[in-house]
Amino acid sequence: MAKVKDRLKRPLRDLRISVIDRCNFRCQYCMPAEIYGPDFVFLPKSELLSYEEIERLAQIFVELGVEKIRLTGGEPLLRKDLPYLVKLLSRIEHLKDIGLTTNGVLLPKYAKELQAAGLKRVNISLDSLKDELFGQINGRNVGVGPVLKGIKAAQEAGLGVKINMVVKKGLNDSEIIPMAQYCKDNHLQLRYIEFMDVGSSNGWKMDDVVTKKEIYDILREHYSLVPVDPDYYGEVAKRYRHQGTDIDVGFITSVSESFCSSCTRSRLSADGKIYTCLFNGNGHDLRDFMRSGVNDRQLAERICEVWNGRDDRYSDLRTAETVANRKKIEMSYIGG
Ligand code: SAM
Ligand code: SF4
Ligand code: SF4
Repeated sequence: MAKVKDRLKRPLRDLRISVIDRCNFRCQYCMPAEIYGPDFVFLPKSELLSYEEIERLAQIFVELGVEKIRLTGGEPLLRKDLPYLVKLLSRIEHLKDIGLTTNGVLLPKYAKELQAAGLKRVNISLDSLKDELFGQINGRNVGVGPVLKGIKAAQEAGLGVKINMVVKKGLNDSEIIPMAQYCKDNHLQLRYIEFMDVGSSNGWKMDDVVTKKEIYDILREHYSLVPVDPDYYGEVAKRYRHQGTDIDVGFITSVSESFCSSCTRSRLSADGKIYTCLFNGNGHDLRDFMRSGVNDRQLAERICEVWNGRDDRYSDLRTAETVANRKKIEMSYIGG
């Protein structure tokens, strides 16, 4: 396998695995309820990779250089027995980090079990601290209480916790400071995410984006922030630290300051397709290829071929024309 790895033209360090495309929320920027209504057809179970299939592919990705795996969805904690998958992945030699991105609602039930299985960290999505606004954003009228309980459960279980806040102009930009203060008071790293044009159902417009610069300027009026050097090549978040603390604030600047040239991330969908960019329209099948009886080396060769064939720079090239005309996968399908 080492020889296949040597042929990769660019390092492949980071893998996101979506384990399910369903969700218990309908966040308006991700799964608008008008589109993901009661008749929406999600993937049937037979289409999903089994945990053993995910383990096998993850092992091969790690042999090709992946050091970090993040489980995502839809809502990953809706997939039955997720701690078992974490346990399988935690046995993979040379895999340095396993994380999970979740809306947090099911963490009180699973946080301890996930930590015991080998999970290191969770990113929990929370876009507002106001019940009414949060209920409107998540499309299910769920107040912030269940998410705050999930955050507490994750901290008590000893997991590293980061909070993801998608900021959309006129919707929740008034929550930039309350969220910063809540995270500072509770020793949580907050990451502000620029609203993105993932998929084609969330009605994205450039005018809806609150850029990192705008958020930073608002924060600077309230806090002293010191820039922090990236921890590793390709780190996506630009980080600052509240002066005199070890609490960071991060920005995911996918729209205003794209980072395609250092992108080392691949994504695996719940039905076993590999995507080399969040904004791809079509993935490359690994599931049926694997089910046809090929060996690990053949799978590694396929992954290498797909990765070497990539020339993705979507965020570098984003224009009104690409936003409107390009076929893209939905965020809930590929998991961010
Ligand atoms: N359900 C889980 C959750 O919400 O954390 C995991 C999947 S969700 C698709 C992953 C991340 O993508 C979340 O932090 C969510 O806020 C973010 N996200 C969804 N739609 C987005 C958009 N249009 N722009 C930016 N981030 C988005
Ligand atoms: Fe579900 Fe996460 Fe998308 Fe919200 S952001 S609808 S919680 S997948
Ligand atoms: Fe990577 Fe595509 Fe995002 Fe650029 S737009 S950073 S290539 S995922």
